[in-house]
Amino acid sequence: MTRMTATTENRTFDSLNPATGGTVGTHPVHDAAAVRAAVGRASEAASWWAELGYAGRRARLLDYKAVITQNLKRIASLVHEETGKPEGDATLEIVLAITHLDWAARRAQRVLGPHRVASGLLGVNLAATLEYQPLGVVGVIGPWNYPVFTPMGSIAYALAAGNAVVFKPSELTPGVGLLLAELMRESVPEQPVFQVVTGLGETGAALASDPGIAKIAFTGSTATAKRVMTACAANLTPIVAECGGKDALIVDVDADLGAAADAALWGALSNAGQTCVGVERVYVVDAVYDEFLRELTGRARQVKAGEQYGPITMPGQLAIIERHIDAATAGGRTLLGGPESVRAPYVDPVIVADVPEDSPAVTEETFGPTITVKRVADTEEALAKANASAYGLAGTVFSGNTRRAMDLARRMRGGMTAINSVISFAGIPALPFGGVGDSGFGRIHGADGLREFARPKSISRQRFALPGMKLTSFGRGQAELDRLVKLVTFLHGRRKH
Ligand code: NAD
Repeated sequence: MTRMTATTENRTFDSLNPATGGTVGTHPVHDAAAVRAAVGRASEAASWWAELGYAGRRARLLDYKAVITQNLKRIASLVHEETGKPEGDATLEIVLAITHLDWAARRAQRVLGPHRVASGLLGVNLAATLEYQPLGVVGVIGPWNYPVFTPMGSIAYALAAGNAVVFKPSELTPGVGLLLAELMRESVPEQPVFQVVTGLGETGAALASDPGIAKIAFTGSTATAKRVMTACAANLTPIVAECGGKDALIVDVDADLGAAADAALWGALSNAGQTCVGVERVYVVDAVYDEFLRELTGRARQVKAGEQYGPITMPGQLAIIERHIDAATAGGRTLLGGPESVRAPYVDPVIVADVPEDSPAVTEETFGPTITVKRVADTEEALAKANASAYGLAGTVFSGNTRRAMDLARRMRGGMTAINSVISFAGIPALPFGGVGDSGFGRIHGADGLREFARPKSISRQRFALPGMKLTSFGRGQAELDRLVKLVTFLHGRRKH
């Protein structure tokens, strides 16, 4: 939660504990001038950081990783205070962030460093080199739901690629953002390669429209992504947009139903359902539908808000969750909970079956501990329904048949699919992460995530002049052109069928 103090100058805001309403910290609202100053400092730091080279950056980022690991409990406790999530869940997200930081630090040189590429037959006298250079200052705008894991997916990869970072954490979790930057100063005391500016949306907008920003890595809602793109348009600043989702889980006829129910439940309810790649819709093939529902509801009865998961972090989200529960229960068959499950700031699990596919509970991101379950004739119908969404972030398939599961996974609309597990792709640093459609574009994580924060530099070097092949010169004669056409006809002129 967040609370503003209403003064015009030196404005501050409080981050609040969503479970108790108590103040966790008070932070400045950085205006455009403060953002400008931070970006200016970052610009100098970026040159120094780029000069340091891969080995220097790797050593410091691995040290930062160790510092974060040593401070795991302290960070987890602050994540718990600012978001309300249990410390165990906070620990899990920090561990994932550590894994990504390690991967990005170790792999940056191999992925981005200079390497020779083939120059082709026509370029036989040329040496071709490709390398990926840093962009400069990357602006990261983050959400509150995973205040360590999510922004680190951009911050770690941007830093490893040789950029400096100015991070605008969510106004609900500014303390976590500041702590991450403070710990970085232990590993890199010389220059502010990772700074934090705090504030609300307007601070984020100032960052997005700052001319010193080379790229914005935005994670948050689709509606805000559009506003960020508008701000970026002024300077033609490129953007990575990691937005919301309405992820589906498909249960096949030969799936392990206990495991599928367990995964659906955790995917939907953990972090109170406030997960971009959380399970919101479940499609189950007819033959196993009733048994799956028994497995699901039986397990769900053991899960309580305030015990296995925390409160709804952002008070404004409660109204959306309530509206979706009302819509779902009005159009479908309630299996667990209902409107009475909302007892602010907590929401107990809600499961509703047979909700019409055009209900907002099925089409819009709920971001709460609710699940809609639908019976389908077969996995083809499940896939068609799963894919009929404006969003396309991730998804899950449970099946005993690997070939069918892989085929479904490939055809699922979205950047990531987990098979017989839930959200497992997020813990594999080599796998890129990102969406399609309303879920955004661009990728964090993996080699693609490193390249997202770098620009390719192509260099061709002539090693010797090709005798009789002076093609890019006004001294070229007809004989050279004839030789070229002969060669290209030999290489490319034969049809295979
Ligand atoms: P949000 O869009 O409200 O805010 C995200 C960030 O943008 C915050 O830091 C906010 O201050 C800032 N912001 C707000 N207005 C701005 C503006 N005009 N210009 C620049 N910045 C502005 O989102 P949220 O509520 O913090 O996060 C929840 C959303 O994030 C959900 O939709 C969730 O699915 C999504 N999410 C996506 C991923 C992913 O990787 N795809 C990960 C986590 C969360």
